[in-house]
Parts: sequence; C-alpha cells; structure tokens
Amino acid sequence: MKKILFVTSEAHPLIKTGGLADVSGSLVKALAELGEDVRIIMPNYQAIKTTEEVRYISTIYVYNCAVNILETRLPGTEVIVWLVDCPEFFNFPGNPYVDVHGKPWANSAERFTLFCRVAVEVAMNRSYLDWKPDVVHCNDWQSGLVPALLSLEYSRPATVFTIHNMAYQGVFPRSTYQSLNLPGQLWNPNGIEYHDMLSFLKGGLIYSDRITTVSPTYAKEIQTEDFGFGLEGLLSHRKHFLSGIINGIDMDQWNPETDTNITATFNRVTLHKKALNKIALQERLLLPVDKKIPVLGLISRLVEQKGIDLILDCLPEMLEQPLQFVLLGSGNKGYEQQLHNFAESHPDKISITIGYDETLAHLIEAGADIFLMPSRFEPCGLNQIYSQRYGTIPVVRKTGGLADTVVDTLADTLNDNTATGFVFSEASQGALMEAIKRALILYDHPKTWKRLQTNGMRKDFSWAKSAKQYMNLYGHL
Ligand code: ADP
Repeated sequence: MKKILFVTSEAHPLIKTGGLADVSGSLVKALAELGEDVRIIMPNYQAIKTTEEVRYISTIYVYNCAVNILETRLPGTEVIVWLVDCPEFFNFPGNPYVDVHGKPWANSAERFTLFCRVAVEVAMNRSYLDWKPDVVHCNDWQSGLVPALLSLEYSRPATVFTIHNMAYQGVFPRSTYQSLNLPGQLWNPNGIEYHDMLSFLKGGLIYSDRITTVSPTYAKEIQTEDFGFGLEGLLSHRKHFLSGIINGIDMDQWNPETDTNITATFNRVTLHKKALNKIALQERLLLPVDKKIPVLGLISRLVEQKGIDLILDCLPEMLEQPLQFVLLGSGNKGYEQQLHNFAESHPDKISITIGYDETLAHLIEAGADIFLMPSRFEPCGLNQIYSQRYGTIPVVRKTGGLADTVVDTLADTLNDNTATGFVFSEASQGALMEAIKRALILYDHPKTWKRLQTNGMRKDFSWAKSAKQYMNLYGHL
C-alpha cells in the first residue's frame, strides 16, 4: 500500500468546474478501493458543498500567513480530504478561477502559491498531521509549484504531475514572481521561468519525477507544435518520463440504470425506455414533444477548444434537417449571444441553456440520441464516454481522448460490433456536417442504430484498468 497525497484545485462532488473535478473525485475513489492510502488536499473555497462533517485539525504558518487545515471526507467515501483554509484568499463567492461575474481572480498567482506551499508542508509532514506520503500526485497548473518546491527538499516524496489541459498554464508577469518570494534558484529557463514570466505549469513539467496526461493520443499530440502551447520541446525532451493514461468515469454516478436525475432508468435490455427521457427533456426545454425526431445534445464549456464555432457554422444547415438541438453550457459571451440568437429564431428546433446544471446534464445524456463534441483538441473528454454509457451516439473529432474512446462507424467496425460513434478529422464545418449527416442517416435504421448503442453501453469505462496503471507508476517511483 502506498501513501498518496493527491493535490487538486477541484474535486467532485465538493466543487466542480470541469473534467478535473470528475477525475479527482473518481480516480481517488478507485485508488482507495484498490487499497491505496490516498488523501486529497485542496483549497477551502466558499462554494464547497458537503454533507460530511468538517473539523479543524491544525494551523501552520507559511509566509506570515496563518493557514488552518480542516479535515473532511469525500462525500459518500472514506477518503480523507484536507481543506486549506485561508479565508482572505478563498472565502469569496465564485468558483476556483473566476469571481461571480466570470472575471478571473486578480490574485490567482498568490492564491495558488499559498496552496502549493501548504501542500509542500503537508507532503513533508510538517503540518502536525502525522502522515508522510510516498508519492505526491499533482494536477494541472494550480499545483505546479509543488514539484518545484519539493525539489529543494531533502528526503522528499516522489512526485507525479498530471496534465489535464495544456492550454491552461498559469503564466504571470515577472513582477508577480518577485512579489511571491519564491526561491531564487527556481527562476531560470530550465525552471519556472518562461520567456521572462512565471509559469506554474513548467514547475510541474520540469521538476516532477513522472508526467502523465489523460489519454495516450494527447500524450503524443502535446509533443507537437499544434498542441504543446509552446512547451512541446520540453515535453518531447521529457518523453521518457511522460505517459498517457486514459480517464475512467464514476460508474455509479453516470449509470443509466440507477441515475436519480433522469426520468426513466434503463439498460441495454430496456433501451426502449430511453425515449421517456427524450420526452422529459423536450418537455423541460419547451421543445415540441416528438419521440421520433433525432435530438442532438451538447454540454460544454463554451470556449474555442470545444469547436463551438464549428457548431455555429453548421447550425444553418442543421436547421434544414428534421432534428432538435439542445445545448447546455457557459463561457465565451460572444458564443452565448450567437447561440441565443439561433434559439430565439428557431424555438421549435433549438434550446440553449446558459449556465451550469448537473441535473440537466444527466437528462441530456439520457434523453438525446446524438451527442456532439467537435473539439479542436481534447485531452480526454468525458461527455463522449458518458454518452456511450447512456446509448447516446457521439459525433467527435479525431483528437486526444476522443480518438481513443470512440470507434468510428464503418463497414468493418459494424461487422465486428466495435462501432460506437462517428469520427471526423478536419476541424471544418464541412467535415462536422458530413459526420452529423452520417449519424442522421443511420438513425433512420433502428436496428443498426441499436447495435451502435449497445456496443457503447457494453464497453468498460470504469477506472479499474487506469487506476491500476497509476498504481504501477507509483510503484516504480
Ligand atoms: P473540460 O474539463 O475540458 O471542461 P470534460 O469533458 O473533460 O471537459 O469534462 C467536462 C465535465 O463538466 C463533464 O462532466 C460535463 O458534463 C461537465 N459540464 C460542462 N459544462 C457543464 C454545464 N454547463 N452544466 C453541467 N455540467 C457541465
């Protein structure tokens, strides 16, 4: 059994803005079930929601700041969660990265530097917790200074750094670096300096013993200029320490047989009941109720990465088809406005919900027939996996984890029952539209459609295999 400190800025169900939270919550749960002593450390944001007891356990001082460490459990599990409680940084409404108006926190560098410093104190067993991890597993830029600071410690635990998205690097001006009082020896081009700026992400990539990312394809892609966001050289230099481990999903939370968020539960045998969710979805979103019409769904942060511009380009042609399109998401205000405009002029075909809504997300997965994910890049992606579990056929671009988890529908993949969706390559309106049309054509062949659905529903997307890959990695350190 290994002792693992899992450092993350979000974990479902305590707080979630995206896939990192899903992965933190479900991977840690899977590791604990496999017998590892894994504990989470994360900031104590005001927005954290829990029904579990939260108790004070210690106070430590980092850079003139008194920080309390609170202890709770990951809801529904025995996993210990340590909350870094520093009200002047974290006790504000909003999410981990932006305030209530969607504006990034002006003091993000200070907030996550403090968080990293506390994680290092915990990792070095200097926080009165009487526990020293063998491995510190860090995630994304918010934890990037942990491997960097630990590299200066004597008798430190091993470090793993997982990249969930290369697009977010935590880069700040040199003046911010100076005000943070970080150790001078980290500031060099082979350290956390990046073109005369401070890069949190580089701290993770340079100083960790092992780097992982969330799919094998993305592990290769980020070593190239198109996907590396300027760090491709560093990543290919460290390629022998870099591997891709595909994300699993929480099989309990995303289970069409037991899901309490949906109208009618179903499985492969009772697949006909899926239509009741479609009706419920249409009713809830005030679309014409029609069991037959194909419903296309999309749930996403509305950012360029997700190919929302491609969707906007396709909408006029999509509207010529007999279909309904439902979207749930928030992000870029320009996208939100354009989507709204489409919905306003075609209320009988398009429903746009701007915001974050966990229940609706489940209902869309259960009620839609087709799920769109035309991402320009996608480290792993989770909704295309949830879709397959819910008999909703994904249409995805061939990149990152989408390429690794969806099998295109072709004559041979239909024959050997491996086909689970529709895959296109070029990030263009034409290519996406062609894939949508391929899906719509097959939708009119119920027998074949059902085969696609059951192929996806039969697949094992649990953490079992991937959690073991992480355990192997920990074991080698
Ligand atoms: P990313 O982490 O890049 O946002 P992922 O596909 O890895 O993308 O994970 C996104 C997660 O966030 C999924 O669980 C998805 O259902 C959820 N999600 C995204 N937007 C919303 C929303 N507006 N409402 C509810 N859930 C959302």
